[in-house]
This record gives sequence, structure tokens and C-alpha cells, in this order.
Amino acid sequence: MSEATPETKLDFVRQIVADDIANGKNNGQVQTRFPPEPNGYLHIGHAKSICLNFGIAQQFGGKCNLRFDDTNPEKEDTEYVQAIEEDVRWLGFEWEKKLFASDYFDQLYEWAVQLIKEGKAYVCDQTVEEVREYRGGWNKEGKHSPYRDRSVEENLDLFERMKNGEFADGEKSLRAKIDMNSSNMNLRDPAMYRIRHEHHHRTGDKWCIYPMYDFAHGQSDSLEGVTHSVCTLEFENHRPLYDWYIESLGIHHPQQIEFARLNLTYTMMSKRKLLELVNEKLVNGWDDPRMPTICGMRRRGVTPEALRAFCDKIGITKFNSLTELALLELCIRDHLNRTANRAMAVLDPLKVVITNYPEGETEMRQAINNPEDESAGIREMPFGRELYIERKDFMEEASKKYFGLTVDKEVRFKNAFFVKCNEAIKDDDGNVVELRCTYDPETSGGKAPDGRKVKGTLTWVSARHAVDAEVRLYNPLFNKEKPDDIEEGKDWKDGLNPESLVTLTGCKLEPSLAKAIPGDRFQFERTGYFCVDKDSTADKLVFNRTVTLKDGFAKSKKK
Ligand code: ATP
Ligand code: MG
Repeated sequence: MSEATPETKLDFVRQIVADDIANGKNNGQVQTRFPPEPNGYLHIGHAKSICLNFGIAQQFGGKCNLRFDDTNPEKEDTEYVQAIEEDVRWLGFEWEKKLFASDYFDQLYEWAVQLIKEGKAYVCDQTVEEVREYRGGWNKEGKHSPYRDRSVEENLDLFERMKNGEFADGEKSLRAKIDMNSSNMNLRDPAMYRIRHEHHHRTGDKWCIYPMYDFAHGQSDSLEGVTHSVCTLEFENHRPLYDWYIESLGIHHPQQIEFARLNLTYTMMSKRKLLELVNEKLVNGWDDPRMPTICGMRRRGVTPEALRAFCDKIGITKFNSLTELALLELCIRDHLNRTANRAMAVLDPLKVVITNYPEGETEMRQAINNPEDESAGIREMPFGRELYIERKDFMEEASKKYFGLTVDKEVRFKNAFFVKCNEAIKDDDGNVVELRCTYDPETSGGKAPDGRKVKGTLTWVSARHAVDAEVRLYNPLFNKEKPDDIEEGKDWKDGLNPESLVTLTGCKLEPSLAKAIPGDRFQFERTGYFCVDKDSTADKLVFNRTVTLKDGFAKSKKK
């Protein structure tokens, strides 16, 4: 039952629900729904709505349904239905019932007939342009359609013939007869049904007329006994129409409540535009790890716990705002820090030869898997004469602040020994290709018996045992904080970040990672969080960078 204690501050939607329960409204029952249109994949904005709708049901002992709002046959597909189900489950929620607006097409048709009989709906022959012209504007009165006063008999006959396929797309529509002078444009005789000779992913060719979203949504809510119909702010001025249909039909009246949608910096959230990116192959499919889709994030290594924590943190308000992508990354980092095992990986390798280490020998060093979780245990890593370190961990000339290796300097190799660099070997072009070093076997515990100190601690892998991998680094897909703000003469796609994907090959990983399988997540020490991509095979490991170890935004903003 309710997890909320009197001290818990509830967001305004939950407060309404709590008050309704306290007042015995709806017999104290709570029924919500998450109503996606199966015309694309779910994204992080949908996650906010999912966490809210399913979260309310969980918190107040209610139920939440998954309802597909499938009233636009030309854009919808079963592929999307399946993907949406998978994503909701992966986020950690289970629906009470799986429902489709298309299951109500017969009932909705009957209700339309009822409204015609009561003189509240009429068949109109105006074209889309005429309808628009007659509707007027904010400070312009509307005009009655010349078809508005058709008799009930004529309307019933025409509506039936619309259903029977006697007319072409756009030739006629069914409209609600409300008020052509309402200050709310949605009430100026809105369309209820339109003609679309189109195959539907579930009803096939049974119908050639389809209900409009506004005529389907509230009635679907009502049929399902929804008590609180939560939606985003754009629907606030649809609420009078939502209420008008429900009241005119005299059926159970759910309460529509609007909240602010999620907007994230550097992130495009329009399904239509995401589809364009997929279709034009500007990304590698809906689950490209750069996409803000749930499946993209899953592939990238984001955890459902992190997404839920993020939705919790941003809260629910009535005001549109822009959330920092950095906040999402913080939530991802926080969860992975607690749950991902550590591993050593060298993304840009530079060879190190320990000249005083016996040739052909190896010893096993112990490493802690996760300092945040003792139960994760320890593992062994081979150490030997030839190792790799990150190229950026050596500098020929460095200031005192540099903690990496330079010639004649000593550092600690993590979980191993103190190592001193004696010489840098260069190729003909002057590039450093190898470091000649010596190690101090007395420093096995990470400390020197004589008490001498080193500043830097480097990560490394054994050259002989390392496994090769491809590592994909991701940066925001868009360069701009608000990819939807388009300057004149520019296209939104001009804002795509050409460096959103950087592929590194020849990376060297510690041998324990050879067994990793797609979906496994790790912290590559000193680098970031990574997960095995689905492209990975036993012969060729592929890792995705989920998120860097530190906030990259603070720095990049100053540039
Ligand atoms: P479309 O442009 O296709 O209408 P949509 O993003 O509104 O796209 P729906 O499938 O209709 O997609 O959305 C399902 C539910 O998710 C709706 O209740 C919608 O309000 C909610 N939702 C969509 N985008 C966001 C967002 N950015 N933040 C919060 N909720 C969202
Ligand atoms: Mg929508």
C-alpha cells in the first residue's frame, strides 16, 4: 500500500491522488495508465511519464494499464508495440492490463452515432483548408460550416456510408457540434472521425474511418475506469473537450491532470525527428547508444535503477523547464559506482618494458572488484615484463602537477609496484614508442619500506595477456543545448555533433574481460563506465562508454 508517510512531500499530482483517496472519491480506488502511440520507440521523456503513472499506482495501492493509443494507422506498427512492452518491463514496471484503443473502435462508433442522434455531431464536407478558414483564430470569430445543420437522419446515413467506404480520404469528416466562437479553438467543432483507407496493424481493413485522438483518448480512459488521466501540459487546452465528450456521453469521468514534460539539454525528444535520424541513417538504428531512447540507453549501459532515480530527482511540476543532461549522467554514475565491477583497460596503449623483471615470468596480482561492494570480491591480474599504460600517462616534459610518468620519475602501478622510467624509446619520426622502466619488488604492498613517496597511481595491463577490444566513446548527439532552437536558414540536423561517436581500436584490456558478454558493465578505472555492446563477439570485444567518470559538461561549457 501507500509508501507515503505524512512527512513525505508529495508532488502536485500525487497530492491530488492522495486527497481524492482521503475524500473517498472513486471509492478510494486509483487507476492510471501509460498511453503511448505505437509510432516509434520510447525515449527518456516517456520514462518520466511511465515512472509517474506506474509509480502512483504502486504508491497508492492502485493499478496501471499499458494502453496503446493506436488511432493513426499509417504511422503505427506492431514492431513498436513489442519494443514499448520490452522497454516498460526493462524499466521495472508491470502493467495490470495491456489494452489498445483499437479494441474500442466498435464502442466509439456507437458513441459517435449516439452523439449524432442527440444533435451533437454532424457530417461535414468541408476540405481541410475550408475547415481551417472557417475555424477563425484567437481574435477572429469562427463561421458555421454550411453542413452544420444537416438533419439527424442525413447525418446517420452519411456516417454509415463513411464507415462503409463510399467516400474517399478527406471527402467527409464527422465533427462535434460545440461552439464556433469558443475562445478555446479545440471546441470549435473539432473533428471526431476522419476517413483513411489504410491498413491498421490490428484491425486490418475492417475500418476506413478512424477516431481522432481527442475522441478516442478520454473514452478509452473512461472504459478502463481510469481515475487519474495524467498527461503533459500541451493537453491542458484539450481538457474542456475531453470533459465535453465524457459529459455528453454520460459515462465515467476520469480526471485529466497535466504535468510538465521532460526537456533535456543536448537532447532531441521528438519521435518524428528521431525517426528521421533512423531513416536517414544518421544514427545506427533506434537503439544506437547515442539516441535518447530507452533501448539506446540500455545498449549504452545505462541501468533502469539510474533512470528511475533520475525521474525521481527531477520531480513533477506544472512548469516547462530544461533539465541538464549532466543530472542524468550523475544518476547513471551514482548507480554504476555502486554496482559495476572495476577493471583495468588501456584505450590508447604505450608499451612499458620492466627491464629488471625476469623474461618469460608472470605473477598474479590481486585487485578489488568493487570498493563500494565487498561482496563483489577480488580477482587476479597478471603482471610481467611487458605492460601497457595510457599514452597520456607519459610526458617527456612535465610540470610538478603532472602525476604520470616522465623520465627519471617513479609512480605506483596500481595493485602492483613502484615503477621508475629510465628511458623513452622513439621511432624515426620522434614518437615515443616504448618506455624502459625498472620496478622495485619491495613495494609490492603499494608502499616503499624506506618510506619514499610517489604521487601518481597508474593503471596498466600485461601486454602478453591483454585482450584487444574496440571501444566506442559517445558524446552528445547534438552540439547545442537546445537542438530544437533552430537559427534562420538552418536545419535542425545541422546541430548534429560530428564527434558524437569516436571509435577506438586496438585498446588493451585486462584478461578477465575476455569472458564478458553483451550487457555486462564495468568501471574502467580512471576512465569511465563501459558496457559490452551487442556487436561484441568472442573474437572481437566491443565496449560502449556509458558515461565518463567525471562531469564533462562543467569543463566544456567554459570553452
Ligand atoms: P507524438 O509526437 O508521437 O505524439 P509523444 O512523445 O507525445 O509523441 P506518445 O506516445 O503520445 O508520444 O506519449 C505517451 C505518453 O508519454 C503521453 O502521455 C505523453 O504525454 C508522455 N510523454 C511524451 N513525451 C514526454 C516527455 N518529454 N516528458 C514527459 N512525458 C512525455
Ligand atoms: Mg502524443
